[in-house]
Amino acid sequence: MNMTQIDKTKPVMITGATGYVAGWIVKRLLDEGLTIHAPVRNPNNKERLKYLNALADQTKGSIKYFKANLLEEGSYDEAMKGCELVFHTASPFINKVQDPLRDLVNPALLGTRNVLEGVNRSESVKRVVLTSSVAAIVGDARDFAGYPNGEGTEDQWNTTSTINHQAYSFSKTVAEKEAWKINEQQNRWDLVVINPSLVIGPGISPLSTSESFNLVKQIGDGTMKMGAADFYIGVVDVRDLAEAHFTAGFKPEVRGRHIISAENSHILTLAQALQREFGTAFPFPQKTLPKFLVWLMAPASGFKRKMISRNVGYPWNLNHSKGINELGVKYRPVEESIVDFFQQMIDHGVVTGTNQ
Ligand code: NAP
Repeated sequence: MNMTQIDKTKPVMITGATGYVAGWIVKRLLDEGLTIHAPVRNPNNKERLKYLNALADQTKGSIKYFKANLLEEGSYDEAMKGCELVFHTASPFINKVQDPLRDLVNPALLGTRNVLEGVNRSESVKRVVLTSSVAAIVGDARDFAGYPNGEGTEDQWNTTSTINHQAYSFSKTVAEKEAWKINEQQNRWDLVVINPSLVIGPGISPLSTSESFNLVKQIGDGTMKMGAADFYIGVVDVRDLAEAHFTAGFKPEVRGRHIISAENSHILTLAQALQREFGTAFPFPQKTLPKFLVWLMAPASGFKRKMISRNVGYPWNLNHSKGINELGVKYRPVEESIVDFFQQMIDHGVVTGTNQ
């Protein structure tokens, strides 16, 4: 097998550096003393870049910004010059969108194409690490039943999401497929894919539009005070995920897809961990709601009934052994991740309990 050696004296490019998942990857690269090329939508937005700049000030590494947009062809080429390694994390992670094609699928799919066509044009890039998602492996929880042993592995693809049903999952599936297609048409650079489940844990920036923040906030802001939907969910800590990306970038023999998910958990399990730490100061859900009620209330809560039908009550079953064996991922307890995340939200006034 081809061993890909990445020279750490060369700059490393990361797309979406301002994002939640990317923040900790940037920190890991800076701690290693690397030079980062960060193409962002608005390199002049000092407020949005202040957390990354503070990190760069504290470490041996450095960060240089470029202007780029997923929807603008060729806009990543300049930032890629001289880089042997490219992390492509940028892609919208939003649940409620007005126009799924415009707001999710185009930035994910055209963005991936745009970045990778830039990689094809570059002379220096040897490896691309793509942040995909377990959403490219499984669409709805009930799909696990049709997989061998009822579990999701790197061999499976999501075949049930469409632009009208689970549009975010669809966007991640078509984007990852496009990445493999472009990769297979050449042999200069290799592709390593990271497929995380729901990411939790404190952000480098305490305020984010990532859906991770929304979901966890809702466990403690009263949205679920009458009870939680019977949702099983895979979760992983953002800091452990960054370490997985780092290894995926630099370990010479790594190839293919990697499910990165600490545990197959449940909304109520996460809520109970928070309750143990923060007590009754927040209106955490105490029970699960009957499925028919969740189904009935779905439109009022901004969800589609079809999504409820195909997910609520179905176990979540991802096999994470490849990530452990090949990337050496060590998962911290999910309880620690959720508590640290919620504490950050308290500290920054994102959630306020009765004792605050
Ligand atoms: P996030 O905080 O919202 O980050 C998304 C990033 O994408 C931001 O840096 C944003 O840049 C950038 N972006 C969005 N549209 C863009 C455009 N048109 N042009 C250039 N940049 C654009 O979300 P996240 O949770 O960190 O997600 C990062 C990646 O992880 C995504 O690929 C997501 O699918 C994947 N992922 C996330 C989770 C999770 O639970 N969070 C789970 C699995 C996979 P701006 O600063 O310019 O807005």
